[in-house]
Amino acid sequence: MQTTVADLERAIRNVPDFPKPGIQFKDITPVLADAKLFSVAIDLLTERFKPGSVDAVVGIDARGFIFAAAAAVKLQAGFIPVRKKGKLPYDTFEQDYALEYGHATVAIHTDALKPGSRVLLVDDLLATGGTSAAAVALVQKLGGVILEAGFLIELKFLNGREKLVGIPVRSLVAY
Ligand code: AMP
Repeated sequence: MQTTVADLERAIRNVPDFPKPGIQFKDITPVLADAKLFSVAIDLLTERFKPGSVDAVVGIDARGFIFAAAAAVKLQAGFIPVRKKGKLPYDTFEQDYALEYGHATVAIHTDALKPGSRVLLVDDLLATGGTSAAAVALVQKLGGVILEAGFLIELKFLNGREKLVGIPVRSLVAY
């Protein structure tokens, strides 16, 4: 039987009040644990691109790395991490973004991308869009051209895609 988006949706586990009260955490580990679901998720996230048509898949710390790395192998592209501040060892560019309370910072190596690189940006989940908008800013600072931002999950009611102006956004499962 063919595995579908509905199977992905069924496998994503909702964990109420994690990591704090009021948050409905979308746990993607059951998708990763199932070989077929994981591979279908990667097939869908990459289906608009032929191998060789993307230079780099940029993944966002930390669950985004899992999907982005697998997508990079499939597309015969490099994998570039956007990490939380203080984790990358070499010279970095940093980008601040607002959280509900306070702010956070993500970073990319200054030599991670050549200008003009064709980039697929990947994360597990699009919520308010702050994290991905910061990642977009870092990729663009290096001269990368984002072909698409792909997410396994989108929380539509948070309107995150409005922060990704001019970037085609793709999500597999929306709430
Ligand atoms: P945002 O910057 O608001 O779009 O948040 C996106 C980032 O936070 C992603 O890297 C997600 O992994 C994580 N995230 C936000 N909300 C949730 C949630 N409800 N369940 C799981 N992860 C989340």
